[in-house]
Amino acid sequence: MKKLQDRQGRNFPYLRLSITDLCNFRCQYCLPDGCHTPQHKTAISLDEIRRLASAFAALGTNKIRISGGEPSLRSDFYDIIHTIRNIPGIETVAVTTNGYKMDRRVERWIDAGMTHLNVSIDSLEPAMFQRITGHNRLDEVLGGIDKALAAGLPSVKVNTVLMKDINDKELDRFLGWIKDQPITVRLIELMETGDMPDFFQKHHLSGLVVRQQLLKKGWTQMIRPDNAGPAQEFSHPDYQGHIGLIMPYSRDFCNSCNRLRVNSQGNLQLCLFADKGYSLRHLLQSDNQQELLIARIQEVLQLKEDKHFLDQGNTGATTNLSIIGG
Ligand code: SAM
Ligand code: SF4
Repeated sequence: MKKLQDRQGRNFPYLRLSITDLCNFRCQYCLPDGCHTPQHKTAISLDEIRRLASAFAALGTNKIRISGGEPSLRSDFYDIIHTIRNIPGIETVAVTTNGYKMDRRVERWIDAGMTHLNVSIDSLEPAMFQRITGHNRLDEVLGGIDKALAAGLPSVKVNTVLMKDINDKELDRFLGWIKDQPITVRLIELMETGDMPDFFQKHHLSGLVVRQQLLKKGWTQMIRPDNAGPAQEFSHPDYQGHIGLIMPYSRDFCNSCNRLRVNSQGNLQLCLFADKGYSLRHLLQSDNQQELLIARIQEVLQLKEDKHFLDQGNTGATTNLSIIGG
């Protein structure tokens, strides 16, 4: 079987696919002024998504994460989940969402074939949640998580961006929340993007600080499989949930990179912080182009760099993560 391996010998069983750059939230670190120049009218169509996902599956990809912008804003969102889920070889269909109206919709996503769910919640305090996202919707988002667990999803992951002087005092509140629930809270270091160097300087907090706090409280780092990606995961015998730490600024973070990205315009992005993407769109127009598409993906992958250059302040072409899906 053909597979996706780069010059460094890393394998890529995981594709993160952005299906729209449109978003309705105004997260301070991502789209603080809202979404002004969305390209959602020219986003890849359901047929283009099917061809793309089929080509990646033929190259050994078994996990596809659907992201955005806010992916659930697409009117054909259910069809997209269903189509990807039915591609031979795709075992995991994950969704990353801000949780908008999820309390009313998540059961349908599961029916359509979603197997894994990541919900972004940066604060469990309603006023702070509103300050960060521009929306007073914490209850709605939490209600959606309850529904997802009740509907049979074995676990839910929550993405929480760590921000100094904003939500850095909330660790205990998050820990209390996951005591009796199978939820993994993944604390993500704030990453610098082209739009927000000042916000980054003011609010970036190293995950190592939280790591120390967790170890002190009796949490232990879990052993994860070799291909598990760059998150560190922690467990505690008294807690049903887990904590994940994603520290892109740590040394060796890129060694375990196992993911590629395609944005909503059909550009293959070799890294979140790459200088450019490589268009696949001209090869998504007909089912007869599959072999050419597969060859193009393999060829472009050989251009992947060893690592990102964030530590040198080089954020690449990524002005904010809503463009590329995080
Ligand atoms: N709108 C969806 C959501 O918020 O879950 C999906 C897209 S969003 C870009 C994906 C993830 O990227 C979210 O968990 C978000 O918190 C995270 N993110 C966005 N900008 C970030 C930044 N500068 N640093 C770290 N994480 C960021
Ligand atoms: Fe929208 Fe997600 Fe960015 Fe927040 S992080 S503004 S929800 S794309």
